[in-house]
Amino acid sequence: MFDNTYLKLAGLYLLVLAVISFVFSANIYQLSVQELQKDLHMHTSRLNQFRVPAQTKALVLDEANDQYLSSKSRIVARLVVVNLFVLTAGGLLSYYLARLTLRPIEKAHKSLERFTADASHELRTPIAAMQTETEVTLMNPKLTVEEAKQQLQSNLEEMQKLTGLTETLLQVARFSESDLVNLESVKVSMLVKQATKKVEVMAKAKSINISATNIPGVMVKVDPDGIEQALIIILENAIKYSEKGQKVMVSVTHDKNIVKIAVKDKGKGIAKADLKNIFERFYRADSSRTKNDSGGYGLGLSIAKNIIQTNGGSISVDSVEGFGSVFTVTLKKAE
Ligand code: ADP
Repeated sequence: MFDNTYLKLAGLYLLVLAVISFVFSANIYQLSVQELQKDLHMHTSRLNQFRVPAQTKALVLDEANDQYLSSKSRIVARLVVVNLFVLTAGGLLSYYLARLTLRPIEKAHKSLERFTADASHELRTPIAAMQTETEVTLMNPKLTVEEAKQQLQSNLEEMQKLTGLTETLLQVARFSESDLVNLESVKVSMLVKQATKKVEVMAKAKSINISATNIPGVMVKVDPDGIEQALIIILENAIKYSEKGQKVMVSVTHDKNIVKIAVKDKGKGIAKADLKNIFERFYRADSSRTKNDSGGYGLGLSIAKNIIQTNGGSISVDSVEGFGSVFTVTLKKAE
């Protein structure tokens, strides 16, 4: 689809270039011809000032006329060559510029296509499972109340998962509207406090202690809701991928311009091969996929990354499989 668009845009650029080149050439041609005519005119009037035999005069004028005509054809030939060169070079340049202009759009389009396909797949799988299980249950003539209850329970679990997924998808959409952020100067300690509070219940359920002490009183200029959401995602992961009773630590460091918020866990860590992909939408490390108890869709980190980047920051990860991970969010300090 984009190949065609490249050509169309390149054609449009080339058309503009061709029009400019032709207008220029026409003007140059007109000016040059005017100059030549002036020359010819001067030649004739100078000749008329002298008493020259009519035959010689006719001969000289003939020659001047020939020169005028051949100069005119030389100008035309040169302009044709220049125009051909401009159009050929312009054609190549137009194609290059068209690619340059459309590449980010193509990238965004492809990413949207992939996202739609992945999202549809994630939505379809539980629906298909529910449909098959329900059909099989309904076809069972000796269905007991207990079995029916089990089926309803299983359906309910799938529906809860679907609700979770649709909520996450809505977050993806919400936090993808890049430049719509509301920047405010806030204390980092406040953001950390709010985020840890929101994951308290989840941490307690796994007897995980989140320590967030000695947070310095530095300020950042960010969209507080967004950054809080990103921290929640990182903290939830730290809890999700830790064993019962393990510790999660939040620390903050800063220098003249930046503030770093690090969330460290001693959980299962991330394999080297997965590290470069975990911020991709729908990417889940194999171990998380097979051990399907963490109930994620591989969207959290991509949302967090998007939010942080929109706020002018960045996110990085250090992890050793089997020993734990450190996710570091870097933000600009408020002036
Ligand atoms: P998910 O919903 O699967 O948690 P995320 O986008 O939040 O999706 O994370 C992507 C993948 O990164 C996870 O599936 C998991 O394999 C890995 N991951 C993220 N955070 C951690 C962590 N703190 N410890 C270990 N693995 C993690």
